[in-house]
Amino acid sequence: MRERILIVEDEPAISEAVEYALRAEGFEVEAVDDGNTALAQARARAYDLLVLDLMLPGLSGVEVCRQLRDENPVPILMLTAKDAEVDRVLGLEVGADDYVTKPFSVPELVARVRALLRRRELDTRQAIAKLRVGGLELDLAKHQARLNGEQIPLTAFELKLLTLLAGEPERVFSRGEIMRHLWDSSYVGDERACDLHVSNIRRKIERDPARPERVVTVRGSGYKLQAV
Ligand code: CA
Repeated sequence: MRERILIVEDEPAISEAVEYALRAEGFEVEAVDDGNTALAQARARAYDLLVLDLMLPGLSGVEVCRQLRDENPVPILMLTAKDAEVDRVLGLEVGADDYVTKPFSVPELVARVRALLRRRELDTRQAIAKLRVGGLELDLAKHQARLNGEQIPLTAFELKLLTLLAGEPERVFSRGEIMRHLWDSSYVGDERACDLHVSNIRRKIERDPARPERVVTVRGSGYKLQAV
């Protein structure tokens, strides 16, 4: 089955270039150019991925992402204007799964799209019932996480990261290892993104995010998950 992608971008030249490239890769592609239409369409139809521009007329990309995040596990690749926006885009407030900074090369964007889709497919395929580590329970089939029975909203990236750690509790995973797993690629980009995802996860699952007991930093090595 062909995967369906929604492009949300108000600059026609960029939208057309991305649409053309993704179609050439065999994807089914739809494009809209404002935030309100994007939100309505993403709610009405099942997409496998969204390519979402940050600055849009009407509802901003940030707002679209924020609203969808609460209701839909669709992977979201954000287009940002500058690197400085990365913290915010991957942060709790917005919750995108990945980002590309403009101006980007179309092949790079296609590679990111493929990585996000591959990751989701792997998640679905290895939908082994559930992973439990202490009070944390990951339901990979439903893309849900629970902490002491209470559902916690995780982005696709956050769930993927926790799934890796939860597969082998107490084992230390390096940042590079985590990033390669997240992107299913040897190209890991900025390892700062790993720390950002970890800090977002901590805010959601730690009693005191400043003194993490679950996702623990192992100085100079990486991160591990502990049963609490
Ligand atoms: Ca724009």
